[in-house]
Amino acid sequence: MMFAKVVLTIAALAVSTTNAFVQHQPLGVSRTITKSSSLNMVADDAKVVLVTGSSRGLGKAIALELGKNGQKVIINYVSDGSADAAAATVEEIKAAGGDAVAIQADSSDPDSIKKLFAESVEAFGTVDVLVNNAGITKDGLVMRMKPAQWQAVIDCNLSGVFYCTQAFFKLASKKRTGRIINISSVVGQIGNPGQANYAAAKGGVIGMAMANAKEFSSRGITVNTVCPGFIATDMVDKLDEAYLETVTAGIPLKRLGKPEEVAGMVRFLALDPACDYITGHTFNVDGGIAMGA
Ligand code: NAP
Repeated sequence: MMFAKVVLTIAALAVSTTNAFVQHQPLGVSRTITKSSSLNMVADDAKVVLVTGSSRGLGKAIALELGKNGQKVIINYVSDGSADAAAATVEEIKAAGGDAVAIQADSSDPDSIKKLFAESVEAFGTVDVLVNNAGITKDGLVMRMKPAQWQAVIDCNLSGVFYCTQAFFKLASKKRTGRIINISSVVGQIGNPGQANYAAAKGGVIGMAMANAKEFSSRGITVNTVCPGFIATDMVDKLDEAYLETVTAGIPLKRLGKPEEVAGMVRFLALDPACDYITGHTFNVDGGIAMGA
């Protein structure tokens, strides 16, 4: 009886920690490699995952989720002041059994992104999964929004996704396999006053992902988008408390989301075998605030 219980537990663990990717063979035959990314070590079939903007907030939670799952993670940040936080995340992942490096790069600068990918390849040989997460806000009502405010958000949140996607495609198209996960926002689906720049960028990401999914499908590369609602990070901390209370009252689940809840969705899209057949879609992790969008 005891033995049966142990066997069952081991079987359950093997299922829950399994990850797979369809490897596209030259003859068009798909071979699914499954391997248990067992506890406290880098998985034999570890994917190299680049998470832009992963020194803090959602990006950090995503990096930790994948790193602790035995993957090799590239932590990216832009500010000098975030170097220590990025290094600490690298150590946390290594201590949990994954592998990681931290690389500083500015997603709004195409040359910086080329360098980011070159250094990533130098570190881990390739990039298998790209999580386009880096993002900023520079809120203001339309009548008062300065061109620099508009442009900075478009450059980082929209053009940055394009530069990273283009650099990733150059690598992944040769291998005929790869996954891109874009972090957009409910604001790109339903809008928000004071965020014309952010809504335009995030809505643009959803459209770009669908175009990319159609363009890249023949190369075995999938592209999906995650739309978080209001999640407790530095970005939401900046919002006015009274406004946040009103927003929370309008969330069907009546609370802010946790970064780990978004990270769980990204882990599924990045690693689960089912996602070999999911592309061009948008998944909300938003407590229901944008249901039907
Ligand atoms: P956050 O806590 O402010 O963290 C932003 C991250 O992006 C940091 O790691 C930052 O690096 C990095 N970053 C900023 N500009 C960059 C650039 N030019 N190049 C590279 N990295 C850059 O933000 P968050 O709340 O985690 O948001 C992460 C993503 O989720 C964003 O795309 C955001 O729009 C989206 N999102 C967030 C929410 C939410 O409620 N929090 C909701 C929907 C969507 P440094 O530390 O070096 O500055």
